[in-house]
Amino acid sequence: MRRVVVKVGTHVLSEQNRLCKERILNLVEFLVALMEKYEVILVSSGAVAAGYSTLKLDKSLLQNRQAIAAVGQPQLMAVYNKKLEKFGKSGAQLLLTADDFDSRNRCAHAKCTIDTLLSHGILPIINENDATATEELVFGDNDQLSSRVAYYFGADLLILLSDIDGYYDKDPNKHADAVMHKEVYEIHPSELVVEHSPHFAFATGGIVTKLKAADFLMQRGKSMFIASGFELEDVKSYMLQGVHEGGTLFTNENR
Ligand code: ADP
Repeated sequence: MRRVVVKVGTHVLSEQNRLCKERILNLVEFLVALMEKYEVILVSSGAVAAGYSTLKLDKSLLQNRQAIAAVGQPQLMAVYNKKLEKFGKSGAQLLLTADDFDSRNRCAHAKCTIDTLLSHGILPIINENDATATEELVFGDNDQLSSRVAYYFGADLLILLSDIDGYYDKDPNKHADAVMHKEVYEIHPSELVVEHSPHFAFATGGIVTKLKAADFLMQRGKSMFIASGFELEDVKSYMLQGVHEGGTLFTNENR
C-alpha cells in the first residue's frame, strides 16, 4: 500500500486563538477515508494554539511558546483521539526533532515504530518536540519536519493542507490577478530565498518553507501536493477520486 504524509498548519487547526474542533472533525473524516486507500501519517501543528486557552502567556517570547506547546500538545492529541474514536480509529503521538533524522539509529527506531503502528491501523500523529527543538516555533510551522518525515519514513507523497489553496505565480493575498500553478516540475533557487511574510499571528510558515519542503522531496524523486485545509474538496478529489481539480502538485515525474 502506498504511504502518504498529511501535514496540517496551525492556521487551519485554530480560530481566534483556540482549536477549531469542527475543522479538525472534517480533517479526521478525510484522513479516515484516506486510510482506506493509503498508509497515512499525520504531521500536525497546533500545540501552541491548543494550549493558549489554558496558559495565556506572551507568545512573542520563545520560552513562553515552548511552555504553551507543552500544555497544548496533550490537549491536541485528546481532540484528535476523540474525533478518531467516532470512526473506530486511534491516533499515536510521536514527538521528533530534525536531529532525529541525522541519526541513522534514531531514525530507524522511529520508522520501525511508524511501520508497526501503520500495520495495526493506527494513525501516527507527529509534531516537533517543542521543548527541545525550536525550528517549528521560530519558523517553518512543521513544513520542513513533514518533508523529512515523508522521505525518511518511506512516503511517496506529502500533502500540505494550508490556509492557501495552492502555489501561485505571486502572493494571491496581495495580487488579485495571481494565477495558481497546477503542476510544478522545478523550483528556481530564487524562489527559495524570498522573504516570507506569514500574515497570521499563529502561523509561522509562509510559502518559502513550503517550497523548500517541495524542493527537498523533488530532489529525492518524491512529490508534494498543496491544497486548502479549509475546503477539503480539492484534496479529496485528488486523493480519493484521482481527479486533479485544484491545488498544486510538485513533482518531477512525467517531465
Ligand atoms: P500555513 O499556516 O498553512 O502553514 P502560511 O500562512 O504560513 O500557511 O503560508 C501561506 C501563505 O503564504 C499564504 O496565505 C500567502 O499569503 C503566502 N504566499 C506568499 N506568496 C505566495 C504564493 N506565490 N503562492 C501562495 N501563497 C503565497
